[in-house]
This record gives sequence, C-alpha cells and structure tokens, in this order.
Amino acid sequence: MKKLFTLCSSLAFLLMASGAFAQSIPPSILRFHQRCILIDTHNDVLSELSMQGYDISHKLNTGNTDLPRLKEGGVDAQFFSIWCDGSYGKGTAFNYANREIDSLMSIIKRNPDKIVLAKNYEDIMHDVHHHKIAALIGVEGGHMIEGRLDYLDSLYKRGMRYMTLTWNNSNGWATSAVDETGHRDSLKHLGLTDFGKEVVHRMNQLGVMVDLAHVGRQTFFDAIHTSSKPIIVSHSCVYKICPVPRNLMDDQIRAVKRNGGVICVNFYSGFVDSNYQHKVDAFIAEYRPQVDSLKHLKHESANDAVFEILTPEQKQSLRPPLSLLIDHIDYIVKMIGVDYVGIGSDFDGAESYPVGMDDVTDYPEITAALLQRGYSKKDIRKILGGNVLRVVRENMD
Ligand SMILES: [Zn+2]
Repeated sequence: MKKLFTLCSSLAFLLMASGAFAQSIPPSILRFHQRCILIDTHNDVLSELSMQGYDISHKLNTGNTDLPRLKEGGVDAQFFSIWCDGSYGKGTAFNYANREIDSLMSIIKRNPDKIVLAKNYEDIMHDVHHHKIAALIGVEGGHMIEGRLDYLDSLYKRGMRYMTLTWNNSNGWATSAVDETGHRDSLKHLGLTDFGKEVVHRMNQLGVMVDLAHVGRQTFFDAIHTSSKPIIVSHSCVYKICPVPRNLMDDQIRAVKRNGGVICVNFYSGFVDSNYQHKVDAFIAEYRPQVDSLKHLKHESANDAVFEILTPEQKQSLRPPLSLLIDHIDYIVKMIGVDYVGIGSDFDGAESYPVGMDDVTDYPEITAALLQRGYSKKDIRKILGGNVLRVVRENMD
C-alpha cells in the first residue's frame, strides 16, 4: 500500500485518539519481546516522512516510524522501502531510487550510535550485538532499474538486498497483481519475460532477495520457478481470509514452502479484513462530493481522500481487531508450518492498521497475542525474525 503524505496529520490525531484502546503488556512479555531479534521487512517511512523533509532521528508526533520509536518497539533490523510509483520511468525512476537511498544514508550518517547499514547476516548480528538498528534496503518496484542490469548492480552496490519485482505497475519484464487481475487484456506480456528471468538470475548471483509481494500470480510462479534461492514475500497476507489481489492464494503459500522462502504478513487493514473496503466504500458514498473534490485537488485515491474527512471515531470503527491479523499468521503456520512466516508491517505505507497497531512501538502486541494464541517462545522467535534471518543468510552468504 502507499498513501499520500497529506494523511499524516489526520492519522496522528487518530493514533492519539486510539491510544486509549491499547492494553498494557506484562513486563515479562516485554522483556521476552526485547530479547527476540525482530526484523520487519517493509516500512515506507523514507517516502512518507524523510523525503518530505522530516528528520526521523527524533521522536515525531506524526507518522508511524522514527528511530526512538523503532528502538522502543524492539525492532532490531528494518528493511526500508525505496519506492516511487509507475509515473517514474526511463530517466527518472533509477535517479529517484538513488535519492531515496541518499536520504537513508544521511539518517545513518547523523546517527552512527543508533543505526547502521547492514548488507548481510553477519552485519545484522553485529548490529544486534551492539544494540544498533540494522538498516537494510528493499527496492519496491523493478521499474527502478529501468530495464538495465547495470542499474541492478549499481543499486546492489549501494546496499539493496531485496527487490520487489513489480509494484502495482507492471514493467517491461514482469506483470503486477493489479494488472494481471484488473487489466489482463491490455497487457503486452504475462508473467516474467526472458529478460525478467535474467534479472532473477542476476539477483540470485548478487545475493539480492527476490521479493514477490505485489506481483501477479503468473509472475509469482514464473519467478519462484526461476529463482535458485529462497524468495521473500515482503508484505502480503492470506487471500482465503481477505480475498484481494495483493494477498496469497493457498497454492502460492505452498509454493513458498517448497522454495524455502518466507511470507511476511502485512498489517494494512485492507489486506487483513475482507470487510474493510466495503466499510470504507460506504463512507466514500456518504461523503461523495467532498471526496471527489479532494481527489481532484490533491490527486489522491478515494481512500486517502475519505480519511481526511472522517472523524477519529469513524476511523476507529474501520479498524479490524488485532486477532484477525494473527489469524493470517496462524493460517500460514497451520498450512505449511512455522518456518515460513515473518513480519512486513507496511507501517507508513497505509491509512489504517488493526486496533492496537498504531505505530512501530506496538510490535510487543504481536508477541503478546501470539503467546496468548499458544505459540511457544521458540516459534515466536522464528516469526519475529528467525525465519527472515534464515532466508537472508541463504541468499547473501
Ligand atoms: Zn507495497
């Protein structure tokens, strides 16, 4: 998901309003949570705040993420998403990706005692040991290499350690979930082209994880059959629970197990709860004239526009319970075992998250909910980071 920056102030208000619902977590669970290695595979704070001039070195009263809050939430390693939409193409997309990486580097440079760029398993473990946040780079959208393997190599040299083959827009060599489901007839090709397969081979060679969030089913299966290394799905949920094109169907979930990869669940209410979009649509219909004028004025989606209008109470009413997010983890675990699931929050990339998941300080809620669901501490360590660490190691060593 990606939302526009204009949401921030209203979101902050909502978050303050929703704080009253948060339950306090027993100190013993907090201590266990802090001892776990927590790796989140998808966060959009660079697009949402850093590129807009905010300094996430300090605690902010807007957005979902900053360095002090990451520490508070027990985050050990964070994949920062490098993203631009499909309006960036030849001559602009690669350049934008580099500028966004620059913004991460400048955060790292200003906070050497808090955050370090990590490029492999050893780096992550070294940073964890020294109580610093390991920052990793994930490029969300293959269009940012502009069809050039030398650009792929160049982003790798700057630290890119996963690349999502597509964002919502298809590129010349891979088709997206949105296009494969919504605009299938207008596609020039379906799935991965021969060049797309070359891209996957090169990523395997370099040690850049192949990320299959956002891609269409055809691209998904083409890529997973092409990749010689375990893939990741950096921020997606279960289609059976919430049937949207961005979520994974059962045969895709089973394919991830066969490949040895990992599915990192997304916290976005619209991917967690099958009723969410219906409820949002009802509000959009109710406020149609204001939504239309905001869409026109700010070039934003109807969801983003209506979130500027809704009251905190109305926004709260749209949020699914945290238990529904845990259901997605549970579904994957029951189907393929506990070794293939992780966390890919999409914080700062969506307009709504389940009750209790207000920002990156709320990860302990996940740990508490998993314990309550009967998960062992060993299994929780795998879900919070162990499984992603395994895939990192198998790709980069
Ligand atoms: Zn995304």
